[in-house]
Amino acid sequence: MADKRVYAFGGGDAEGKGDQKALLGGKGAGLAEMSRIGIPVPAGFTITTEVCMEYQRQGGYPDGLREEVAQHLARVEELQGKSFGDPADPLLLSVRSGAAQSMPGMMDTVLNLGLTRDIVASRIADGEDEHFLHDAYRRLLTMYGDVVMGVPHKEFEAVLEAAREREGVASDAELSSAALAEIGERFEGLIEEHAGEAFPQDPGEQLWGGVTAVFDSWDNQRARDYRRLNDLPDDMGTAVNVQAMVFGNRGPHCATGVAFTRSPATGEPGVYGEYLVNAQGEDVVAGIRTPQSIQPDAHGEGGLAPDFPDAFRELQEHCRKLEAHYGDMQDVEFTVEGRDLYMLQTRTGKRTGPAAVRIAADLVADGLIDEKTALGRIDAGHVEQLMAPDFDAEEKAQAIEDGRLLAEGLPAGPGAAAGRIALDADRAEAMAADGPVLLVREETSPEDIVGMHAAAGILTSRGGMTSHAAVVARGLGKPCIVGAGDLVVDEEKRQVRVASKTFAEGDELSIDGTAGQVIAGKLKPQESEVLQVLMQRDETQRGEGSPAAMALVRILGWADEHRRLRVRANADTPEDARVARAFGAQGIGLCRTEHMFFAEDRISQVRQMILAKDAAGRESSLAKLLPEQRADFEGIFEAMDGLPVTVRLLDPPLHEFLPHGDKALAALAEEMGVEASVVEERASALDEQNPMLGHRGCRLGITAPDIYAMQVKAIAQAAAARKKAGGDPRPEIMIPLAGSEAEVARLKDRVAEIVASVYADEGVEVDTLIGTMIEIPRAALTAGKIAPHADFFSFGTNDLTQMTFGFSRDDVGSFLPFYLEEGILPADPFASIDVEGVGSLVRTACEQGRAVKPDLHLGVCGEHGGDAASIAFFDEVGLDYVSCSPYRVPVARLASARAALKQGVREMATV
Ligand code: PEP
Ligand code: MG
Repeated sequence: MADKRVYAFGGGDAEGKGDQKALLGGKGAGLAEMSRIGIPVPAGFTITTEVCMEYQRQGGYPDGLREEVAQHLARVEELQGKSFGDPADPLLLSVRSGAAQSMPGMMDTVLNLGLTRDIVASRIADGEDEHFLHDAYRRLLTMYGDVVMGVPHKEFEAVLEAAREREGVASDAELSSAALAEIGERFEGLIEEHAGEAFPQDPGEQLWGGVTAVFDSWDNQRARDYRRLNDLPDDMGTAVNVQAMVFGNRGPHCATGVAFTRSPATGEPGVYGEYLVNAQGEDVVAGIRTPQSIQPDAHGEGGLAPDFPDAFRELQEHCRKLEAHYGDMQDVEFTVEGRDLYMLQTRTGKRTGPAAVRIAADLVADGLIDEKTALGRIDAGHVEQLMAPDFDAEEKAQAIEDGRLLAEGLPAGPGAAAGRIALDADRAEAMAADGPVLLVREETSPEDIVGMHAAAGILTSRGGMTSHAAVVARGLGKPCIVGAGDLVVDEEKRQVRVASKTFAEGDELSIDGTAGQVIAGKLKPQESEVLQVLMQRDETQRGEGSPAAMALVRILGWADEHRRLRVRANADTPEDARVARAFGAQGIGLCRTEHMFFAEDRISQVRQMILAKDAAGRESSLAKLLPEQRADFEGIFEAMDGLPVTVRLLDPPLHEFLPHGDKALAALAEEMGVEASVVEERASALDEQNPMLGHRGCRLGITAPDIYAMQVKAIAQAAAARKKAGGDPRPEIMIPLAGSEAEVARLKDRVAEIVASVYADEGVEVDTLIGTMIEIPRAALTAGKIAPHADFFSFGTNDLTQMTFGFSRDDVGSFLPFYLEEGILPADPFASIDVEGVGSLVRTACEQGRAVKPDLHLGVCGEHGGDAASIAFFDEVGLDYVSCSPYRVPVARLASARAALKQGVREMATV
């Protein structure tokens, strides 16, 4: 415990410093720092957070505190030229709490301390403003009564309301002096009645009453709950700031306000904020009177400048000075008393995503911060906000207020979409011709892919963050909500029901995939302009764009200079590959070949292949599929020329490719020219209890080698063709779902043989890597044995999470929200990697793999590859790249840079 417990500020100097937030609290540190740099703040002092904790421990104040406070009070009196409790010219004080981290709702404030009934009378007798004095006294009684003596605020409010009614005025400020005097008496009575003792008429007692109330408030239920919910420590303590009062309510030449040094909504430079003439600070916050804006309107009219030209000029200067000093946008409070402008608080201002990006880039341009600092200030959420379409905030808030919020689910794909609902993929495709459609399903399957493409957004009542709907929607960059459990999707009746409401197919709904909210009716989504700007690969075309979009382009450029991880994309088509590349992807980390199988012109061949009993039966379908696959791969290699493309061999259980329902199977049989029973029999033979753990991945490749052989041939032939055309293809062939060395060894040899023979036939040689996914815990645990057979490992953290937790990734919607609410899991492990469990498997596999093969290439292609917290972990374990959906690439570029910068700091610290 330090000897010094009280720190002075004001009068152009301070005993504390801005970096002593832990000791002085955020507010106290800000006041000290402002004093130091010559910004006018009313004089005062801060009683430290350590005193708070000592007070909590021993139930009383440490020895010597009262003397220290008395000395500091004397300094304030001297600076202000007034004495506390002096009836001739009283110093009035404010007492405010202030913890190191802001705790809104706990902040207790008492203003006008030092005023008594006698002092009011004496000042009035001397001819001072009667109205002001009665008003100041009744404000003191209200706050002191509420904060210190525990009288419910509404008791005071009821008296005021009756008085306003009697006098026919709208606000307290308009009440007559006589009314205010009477109210003061009533308040004194109220306090005595409720608290059982009178309001203290001794200024010293008032001061200590205020200080004690603030320290007591640290341990009240409200404050404890707030800390628990926000993960704040209980031993942080609050400081108490005691400060000379200045009055924004001393007539028409006074005002009080709050301001940001730049727009917190857009980041536009210039002071933004609101003020009230003839008012005290809490009037601005209370919202009783409507404040005016500080900045002039669009026509250059109004604002603070016309009525308070000097104060406006000084406010601008102070704001500039504070920004330059802190190197960041500040949120300030100020008061104008006659000729004087005082600053009462400064802290880092909260801001939207677009504002954060623009401010960071502008501050670098202004030379106030460096690029690394700028990168540290932009997080994934800011970039997401910039890239996603959004609803107009006011329109959405109104809709919610009108009771149109129908359900909530997991926010699987950020952004806003609205449209008529379609309950199956075919309807979605058909309806999309006439305007935006939302595909609403219980859950989606690969069959729905065409409808998902056609839809503006996707909504499911089941599923988790890596369910089919979630993965595909993110890949397509579509807003998506999954697991909205309150929805009943009734395909038979063609209805969606929620609570007591029923929506027929074709009715309109809106979804906010960032917030996970389903809203009745159609809100208007606004397309993100940033997407267009980022898509323009050519720097010369990038002249156009909003300041926020251009700032993001600059910041992503800095991210690229500072990151170690490379960023690839999960993309299945040449079009997706082009989008990914435009967003800065450095290759494809996962091309899921099965998605190509669902294209309209080939699904029938795929089904015929699957329904064939044996290799002989599959031969003709595979022969037809080969050129189609080759063309797909050629397109992708071309779009990603010069960059690696990891193609995964067929992974899902074959059953997923078959149509559902008797009718559909019968139609397929007709197309194939066989009896319906043949098709049904084969389909039921493929049916599995547990398809996710069934005949899928490399198990298919081992039991039906001709399917993989066709795919490998198509990849090698496509690479050869590109090479001959002068391109630079970089194929990587990936074996999925391996759990053992033997599986990988066998398939690797087969793949290598086919590749070699294609290149020999074509007369070209293309460097082709062959590797495996690590997505089964056993593979991770035996990675040292698998590594000799693999050029690379790519962590399939979706399956790895599923199998490590034993949570079906498609069924977590039924219990995960409960787990999260109850704190059984800290976060959705399908969205953000479970470092402790799944992460430990990843780490083990990396270590074992690299021990055997130091140049083993390591990456991740599960959904975690686009999650900022997971990326920090992947950087730490030394992966070479992360791969994520194209629309996440900018986020991953930024997150990788932030991870590298943090890692650098950690390494420095351990040297
Ligand atoms: C994975 O399991 O992490 C993966 C990328 O594969 P999929 O999601 O296709 O199963
Ligand atoms: Mg997988």
